[in-house]
Amino acid sequence: MRLVLIDKKSEQRNISTFIFKPEKKIKWTSGQYLIYSLPHQKNDLRGKQRFFTISSAPHQNYPSITTRIEKKPSSFKTALNKLKVGEEIFVKGPDGDFILDKKSKINIFIAGGIGITPFIAILRDLVFKKMKNEVLLLYANKNNNILFKKELDKISKKNKNIQIKYFIGSAKIDKNVLKRVIKKNIDIFISGPDPMVAKMEETVKKLGVKEENIKLDYFSGYKNI
Ligand SMILES: Cc1cc2nc3c(=O)[nH]c(=O)nc-3n(C[C@H](O)[C@H](O)[C@H](O)COP(=O)(O)OP(=O)(O)OC[C@H]3O[C@@H](n4cnc5c(N)ncnc54)[C@H](O)[C@@H]3O)c2cc1C
Repeated sequence: MRLVLIDKKSEQRNISTFIFKPEKKIKWTSGQYLIYSLPHQKNDLRGKQRFFTISSAPHQNYPSITTRIEKKPSSFKTALNKLKVGEEIFVKGPDGDFILDKKSKINIFIAGGIGITPFIAILRDLVFKKMKNEVLLLYANKNNNILFKKELDKISKKNKNIQIKYFIGSAKIDKNVLKRVIKKNIDIFISGPDPMVAKMEETVKKLGVKEENIKLDYFSGYKNI
């Protein structure tokens, strides 16, 4: 399906949100992703296609990408960053099972840096629908420039069922932290760069969380948070 860029918003020095209008309405569940194709000249070996979580919630109508544009970006990100309002990109999907289980009332979200994107979509959705699912977000970031912090703090202040703990720099989400928060009947969602997701998965499994209660979103392509 064809989408047209309608707005681009700078979130931080190297993070932007791109908002698209689809040619036909797209129905998605918060936490899902789209597969984007962006034809461009001289593409590098990583190619012309990328997976991106839809960082907007369904009630916001238009799907958005929130992504980091590094100092030496891939040819895809260079082309995305140069896209002008009115220009097009193509998508397949939505797809993905990184979505809340309606039966589960207690959820632990673990985010590493840009891995916050599915969680911001899910939290926006919960708040909009006035759903009372219990959520504890553990959010690790390498410095104090925390993506969506203002919005997250506002959400948590207004919704007693949503708690957030930040882990900045050397403060890590480790076994001791997780041991204190893991209870029975929880679902754990982990999202971020590959090494971080793999490590967190191993830790929560060692703490006894069953495979069927763990959902993972690997943001391949990034080396760190
Ligand atoms: C289900 C799913 C959802 C995702 N959701 C998101 C999301 O919401 N937001 C998001 O940002 N990402 C998301 N990702 C990851 C996304 O698909 C990209 O893999 C990621 O953004 C990295 O993009 P990039 O490869 O264009 O590299 P860049 O972001 O441009 O660069 C990342 C690093 O790789 C280096 N690099 C870039 N190109 C090359 C190259 N050709 N050769 C060697 N090194 C290179 C850069 O210098 C930099 O250090 C998701 C992935 C999946 C599977």
